[in-house]
Amino acid sequence: MLDTQSTEKPLAHFKSKADLHKGANTGVSSSGEWSVVQIEALFALPFNELMLKAQETHKIYFPEGNVELATLLSIKTGGCPEDCGYCPQAARYDTDVKAEKLMGLEEVLEAAKAAKAAGSNRFCMGAAWREPKDRDIEKVTAMIKGVKALGLETCATLGMLEADQAQALQEAGLDFYNHNLDTSEDFYRSVISTRGYQDRLDTISNVRAAGMSVCCGGIVGMGESREQRAAFLARLANLSPYPESVPINHLVPVAGTPLAEQKPLDPLEFVRTIAVARITMPKARVRLSAGRQELGRAVQAMCFMAGANSIFYGEQLLTTGNPEAEQDRELLAELGLKTKQSCKAEVLV
Ligand code: SF4
Repeated sequence: MLDTQSTEKPLAHFKSKADLHKGANTGVSSSGEWSVVQIEALFALPFNELMLKAQETHKIYFPEGNVELATLLSIKTGGCPEDCGYCPQAARYDTDVKAEKLMGLEEVLEAAKAAKAAGSNRFCMGAAWREPKDRDIEKVTAMIKGVKALGLETCATLGMLEADQAQALQEAGLDFYNHNLDTSEDFYRSVISTRGYQDRLDTISNVRAAGMSVCCGGIVGMGESREQRAAFLARLANLSPYPESVPINHLVPVAGTPLAEQKPLDPLEFVRTIAVARITMPKARVRLSAGRQELGRAVQAMCFMAGANSIFYGEQLLTTGNPEAEQDRELLAELGLKTKQSCKAEVLV
């Protein structure tokens, strides 16, 4: 299938992909998998060296260097039975988020039209469910068909999916399904108890089997160690194939959630995380997601230098807010970054 931005040709500059990582003693192993130790070694590189490797990788795999704009609409907010420790939509936490019903088709299509008019390439519909019921799938497939007809790439994040549900979404025209691993397997239980790591992997596998592209990343700054961040990225990079989209969220501590008092991650460590994601998943769109607003312009600029090439754009980022679209356009223009024009999905398989 098609991968519109990566070709093997630019690699002619290098004897092998492992050359990209030469000097760090961190090349991909002969099995083609990344070990946690190799990824930790990338994290430990002098900052400028890590940034240079990330930029070299980015230039090879994304020679146009453009930035994808994705808009996220919460189509069903709050009241979720899960216990994700970072999430204000969990019904069990006392937060400002009020449970709402699933939005109607027309309302969703109006939001999609507005996102397209503002320059978005992808429209992602998020619902705070543990897993959708079959009647929910029927309603969401109508939304997918409508958004697709507007000429936007479509993405949905609805919780755990069974194989037949994934198939139904794919048949409706869904391009991407988002389901995050969130963090490393050994840190996972510190954050979530109502579903297991394997449940997440099973959903990702059902999405792949149905022929959709995978959007999968996580959240950093939840109190995990650097080793656990490395293990999280290793897990993503060793998925076969690795996700086409990798959203990296910077924890936004929300009052009322168990992580409300979590100390923020050092911004330079966040930039390192982006750089390591770029190096280990060179063809993926690495997306700056929640927490971007708190990072400020300078750190966001460093993230783009480190290889981030997708952002959530506009004001509708589930419940944590997002920089105004105008500010985003100004920042991208100031950095001389073009936006991705095509709405064609970049597929790795
Ligand atoms: S992250 Fe998703 S599954 Fe977890 S509590 Fe929030 S809405 Fe529910």
